[in-house]
Amino acid sequence: MVPPTEAQSRTERRAPARKGKTRGEGQWALGYREPLNANERSKKDDNPLNVRHRIETIYAHGGFDSIDPADLRGRFRWWGLYTQRAAGIPGARTGTIEPEELDASYFMLRVRVDGGAMTTEQLRVVGEISQTYARDTADITDRQNVQLHWIRVEDMPTIWEKLESVGLYTTEACGDCPRVLLGSPVAGVAADEIIDATPAIKEITERYIGDRSLSNLPRKFKTAISGSPRWDTVPEINDISLVGVEHPEHGPGFDLWVGGGLSTNPKLAVRLGAWVPIEEAAEVWHAVTSLFRDYGYRRLRHRARLKFLVDDWGAEKTRQVIEDEYLGRKLLDGPKPETPSGHRDHLGVNPQVDGNFYVGVKSQAGRVSGSTLVEVAKAAERVGSARVRTTVEQNLLVLDVPQQQVEGLVADLAGLGLHSTPTPWRRNVMACTGIEFCKLAIVETKQRAIDLINDLERRLDDVQGDVKDPVTINLNGCPNACARTQTADIGLKGQMVRDDEGNQVEGFQVHLGGGLGLDAGFGRKIRGHKVTSTDLGDYVERLVRNYLAQREQDERFA
Ligand code: SF4
Repeated sequence: MVPPTEAQSRTERRAPARKGKTRGEGQWALGYREPLNANERSKKDDNPLNVRHRIETIYAHGGFDSIDPADLRGRFRWWGLYTQRAAGIPGARTGTIEPEELDASYFMLRVRVDGGAMTTEQLRVVGEISQTYARDTADITDRQNVQLHWIRVEDMPTIWEKLESVGLYTTEACGDCPRVLLGSPVAGVAADEIIDATPAIKEITERYIGDRSLSNLPRKFKTAISGSPRWDTVPEINDISLVGVEHPEHGPGFDLWVGGGLSTNPKLAVRLGAWVPIEEAAEVWHAVTSLFRDYGYRRLRHRARLKFLVDDWGAEKTRQVIEDEYLGRKLLDGPKPETPSGHRDHLGVNPQVDGNFYVGVKSQAGRVSGSTLVEVAKAAERVGSARVRTTVEQNLLVLDVPQQQVEGLVADLAGLGLHSTPTPWRRNVMACTGIEFCKLAIVETKQRAIDLINDLERRLDDVQGDVKDPVTINLNGCPNACARTQTADIGLKGQMVRDDEGNQVEGFQVHLGGGLGLDAGFGRKIRGHKVTSTDLGDYVERLVRNYLAQREQDERFA
């Protein structure tokens, strides 16, 4: 761990401040230490991790109105707390809910689930917290977290106590810091695994999450570490990815990628051509994160992701700076991992290396509930399992199921609305939080996605068997692309559009042909393809039927 004072003095030694010159990009390593925007100022004024103490000692007693606005709008995020949208609450527009519900004094709470790994006890505790403090809400996110809504600041000390008593945390679940570490949900149990990345995720989480030397990064920093050959942590679009690969001389380890990300300037991660053994994964992760802290652009928020620096520097210089300034040694060259094809979602009943099975089930666009999570934990424990996993497709897995118990568990989970063999439409639709709770949203997404799934199952029932490759549909409530607009076959970006009568109504700009793996590339915004929310079923049906009618043999939708 690098203490903040040491980290700061190192970057200042490297290059003195350039007084009187251009403000540059606000890179600390080049001497630009003076905050150049309000976000940077807020982080400099007080380390955001300090806000936990104020929540416990002041705000939890004084209530919402006692919260300092700088904490509320900024530093709360470092502990997983976002204020919840008020105006978008269903019913707010139609007047069907009580006026007192319209205030914005509630929070969304993100519980980080590093590697997507939970015990059934942890899952049950999250579910019970939801039942008691979050009006039974729960969403599985496409970054393997669990999000709860309707949280009151008064309840946070108790919620943290309950979470931390079972080893779960909200530390740096949001904010300009290292977010949850994505990991293969089948780490350690999959027969085709190249390497089990669990020890690397554990070491990084224990050493660096909550480390104050890394709690003021230019912006969020996303990590994916997986030894699965299926690339089941979307490594193409993370700031740093360690991707399992077999080195011809040194054996299994990881290929190092940096600079991926979506939002308004999407970029695919770049291979640095370096091979990292698992014993060095934490050290290399720390080096790349520190490089982002020191050299990342801080002047403009929309350029403050690592992808812009990597784009400007290129792979060669990025690797050289990591080696020369952070590791003090050369990295080993390594081979490129083989690009996977097909599903990465681990759904269905699958054998484990130990003779047991894992069962992967689909949520409806990530929407579950606290009660559902409690029931999943109970169902898993009834068949002798103590381990569950979340996935980047908003799915749930139950591990360690004995063969004779598989059928019963599959039926129990189906009874909870969680299906192991979903239709292609149920399987491949994802949605972000949307206008129900997200303050940035322009349109409704979750319920829209659930309605769309049911609609497509009716409309396209006759061609289900013809859809061999996944046709993914991702609904996003705004341009921020939290549900990966640009990497879906049909990416939907929420915005207001005109209906046939010229009225402004909720709808989507369509992006077509995005994909990961073999088809890695971003969907193209199709000019003129804007669809109202109510016409979505019609639109997707037309697209899919045209594709099926016109495709050449084995032609994929992308
Ligand atoms: Fe909110 Fe936009 Fe992200 Fe959806 S894509 S969760 S609406 S910020």
